[in-house]
Amino acid sequence: MSPRDPKNESRSFKSADPSASLPPHAPRAGAPIGPPPQGFGHSRKRMALEIGGVLLVLVLLVWGGIALVGGVASMVVGLMPISVDQTIGEATWNQMVPAEKRCTDPAALAYVQAVAAPLVEAYEGEHTFTFAVIDAPEVNAFALPGGFIAVHSGLLEKAESGEEVAAVLAHEIHHVTERHGLRRIAGQLGLFAAIGAVLGAVDLGSMTGIAVSLAGNAYSRDQESEADALGHALLVKANIDPAGMATFFDRLAASSPGVPAMLSTHPGSDERATLARERGGLDGAPRTLPTPDGVRCR
Ligand SMILES: [Zn+2]
Repeated sequence: MSPRDPKNESRSFKSADPSASLPPHAPRAGAPIGPPPQGFGHSRKRMALEIGGVLLVLVLLVWGGIALVGGVASMVVGLMPISVDQTIGEATWNQMVPAEKRCTDPAALAYVQAVAAPLVEAYEGEHTFTFAVIDAPEVNAFALPGGFIAVHSGLLEKAESGEEVAAVLAHEIHHVTERHGLRRIAGQLGLFAAIGAVLGAVDLGSMTGIAVSLAGNAYSRDQESEADALGHALLVKANIDPAGMATFFDRLAASSPGVPAMLSTHPGSDERATLARERGGLDGAPRTLPTPDGVRCR
């Protein structure tokens, strides 16, 4: 949950610059011939990996055909280090969730963090998560690449149990872990910029711009279904009653005219509630979560 240092991350991208992997100049006449500078062997290995990555991408391109460039670019995401998600996510987060948009009562963030804690604990993977509560009346939440998750205060008002809030958070956590945002960005960027990102030459400005422009759009049907299914599994793993997912979708379905794009995605809320019920519940007694009743934003 700690904030990341963007300076360190930009340094790590610089080190992936292919020009940094070139062998040193030949020694001057009379200069002692010694072992190559430290890290040279590592750089050669890295260059081989990068060339391998490019070859793999080219194979994918031939295999997929030009018409599938967007899809291939999305597949390239699997070759990108998690630091790409974090760098783009942090820059987007700073634009979309500035301090003046957040709830000023610390109880709101403390509540979301308390509900998220068992989910984050149950999650096994390399992502870390940062949460915020935005002062906004819509029933909404969204995730940015790299583990940044924002909840609108309107969602805390609408939800009737901690399990419903946990269901939304579990869903958003899996948009992060499955890198759904980065896949959409890669698809928009096109193949060659995505290859640049694989090689560490991240065009942060254009990727962040796309991330901000995409943030108001719905994910694909497959991405929503995947986040629902994995979110349900994470709730069960965290010993949280997953029935909250179904009851929250019931609530969304009942008020769908007012539901914003980020949550009113296909499949429809009623269909998602049915699927959530079909996935079943917990065998034992669930963990008790605090309710959002009375959690103030300001
Ligand atoms: Zn979603």
